[in-house]
Amino acid sequence: MVNKWLKKLQPVLFPSTCRLCRAAGLPGLELCSACLAELPWITHSCSRCGLPLPREADITLCFDCIKNQPSVDRCTALFAYRPPVDRWIQDLKFAQDLAKGINVVINNTELQESMANKGRKRVEETFDWSAIAKQIETLYKSLKH
Ligand SMILES: [Zn+2]
Ligand SMILES: [Zn+2]
Repeated sequence: MVNKWLKKLQPVLFPSTCRLCRAAGLPGLELCSACLAELPWITHSCSRCGLPLPREADITLCFDCIKNQPSVDRCTALFAYRPPVDRWIQDLKFAQDLAKGINVVINNTELQESMANKGRKRVEETFDWSAIAKQIETLYKSLKH
C-alpha cells in the first residue's frame, strides 16, 4: 500500500529531467520525447551481425555476412555507438569499475591503511607549506637565469 502511494508521488515530488537538454523528462525516463527521438536508433541492420545498413538498402544481410557466414546466428543493437549513447555505455562500465574498486578497499583494512599512509605522505611532500616554499624557491631560481 505504501509502495503504491510512493510510486504515485515520486513523479510529483521528483519529476524526471532530460539528461541531454534539462527539459521535463518522460515519466520513468531521464529523457524528453524530442531527445529520445534524436538518439542514434538503428532502424535497419544486417539480420545476422546487426551492422547498421542504409535505410534505402533493400537487403537483409551485410556484405561480410553474405561473403563469410559468421559463427553467430543473430546480433541486434538498438543504437549506433555514437554520442550520446557511447558516453552512457562508458559511464556504465566505469561506474561498475568504481564500485568494484570501492568494495575492494572496504573489505581490506591493510589496503585502507596503506592508502591512507601513502595519501598522507603525498600531501606532506607536495602540499604542506615547506614543500610549497621549496617549489616557489625552485621556480624563482629558475627565473634568475
Ligand atoms: Zn531532452
Ligand atoms: Zn552482417
